[in-house]
Amino acid sequence: MPLTKLRILTHRMTRAERRFSLRTLVTLSSLPLFGVVAAFGLAPDTNTLDITPQTVTEAMVLPALTAANDSASTYERESLVQAGDTLATALARLKIDDLVIQRLLTTDVVRKMAASVSAGKRIQATTTADGQLQTIRFERGDAPALTVRLQDGRYVAEDSSDVLETRIVMRSGRILSSLYGATDSAGIPDKIANQMAETFSTALDFRDDLRRGDTFSAIYTVNYRNGEPIAAGQLLAAEFVNAGKAHRAVLFRDASGVEGYYTPEGESLKKGFLRSPLEFSRVTSSFTNSRKHPIYGFHRAHTGVDFGAPTGARVKATGDATVAFAGRRGGYGNLLVLRHSNGFETYYAHLSAFATGVRAGRSVNQGQVVAYVGSTGASTGPHLHYEVRIAGRPQNPMAIKLPGSPPLAIAQRARFLLQTASWSDKLVLLRGTNLAALD
Ligand SMILES: [Zn+2]
Repeated sequence: MPLTKLRILTHRMTRAERRFSLRTLVTLSSLPLFGVVAAFGLAPDTNTLDITPQTVTEAMVLPALTAANDSASTYERESLVQAGDTLATALARLKIDDLVIQRLLTTDVVRKMAASVSAGKRIQATTTADGQLQTIRFERGDAPALTVRLQDGRYVAEDSSDVLETRIVMRSGRILSSLYGATDSAGIPDKIANQMAETFSTALDFRDDLRRGDTFSAIYTVNYRNGEPIAAGQLLAAEFVNAGKAHRAVLFRDASGVEGYYTPEGESLKKGFLRSPLEFSRVTSSFTNSRKHPIYGFHRAHTGVDFGAPTGARVKATGDATVAFAGRRGGYGNLLVLRHSNGFETYYAHLSAFATGVRAGRSVNQGQVVAYVGSTGASTGPHLHYEVRIAGRPQNPMAIKLPGSPPLAIAQRARFLLQTASWSDKLVLLRGTNLAALD
């Protein structure tokens, strides 16, 4: 597979620091694998979100891409160790944040090296435009240069002879039985499949809504060392066509570095609410306006949904909330009521116990374990009775449109389109390719 390395062109040079703007040559190749459309190589440190190949067709070399603006660049700063320097003072001259320096100095390999730091040796740091340290390279007298890289929030040393790359991979598939069965067949790593399931979980329930013949495409990064894949990276864009309806998501990083998934139109996919308060469960009794009550024997509405789950199963808050009630209430048994914004309330009933610290007036976060499944009150066996009420009226939790996060501010639109338009285009292209390959 053809891969290219970054070319670094001098952008501006001052005595104290040198800054480089990155220019990337991207090549593209078709892979002879089922469902695989294309993969192309990107050099390490490349800010993949900001790279926009202009066209994707069959195997071809794309023209060199220039960074769109300053914010799309990474920078290299360099300093020489002076006589009398400690590693910390040398790092401080690179304008690296004190906290980051402290973290670096507590990593084993840097601490070992700090003892033998000598004047005249070069230290090079790569930062994002907003000054976040990505990699740092220390010249050493007695060994090859040491490079320390920020990886998943930790600083990790790498052998400087290693070639690290981030490649962008695009894959598509079709559901035959399950999401994970299909992503496996398409060669999509589980981590990416999870990100995809999570991203679309506000729109789709992957346990119940999947249809045979549903299709999906994913564009994501994979980290390579010396040409071998070492770790799945991040989902950049995805499409899921469920029962003929297309759902799309693109990753967007705002000016302050906060990342989130949005529709190509800029609507946030971040969950205002989880669809279910349990991790593994099935609906044993649905929301109805009238049913025969298993204990009372007469017909009356079932104002919530019952999830079958064993006693002690963890119950999660489906949204950020304040605890309105936690105690015993009639047929509900042990009941937890959470008050959310927009007039939403959620009820969790028949609980065996509440989580520590969950009592009226306390705040809880979405996904936080707030209670445990039980069979208290009017209940025939362990299960969770879950209700969603809007302005006091019970609604079908599985059918209502749950509130999401607010859409992008107008001021962010230009940045959003710049980052995501090409991914949206590629999703459409991938879909066509996938269907053509399979039908
Ligand atoms: Zn119930």
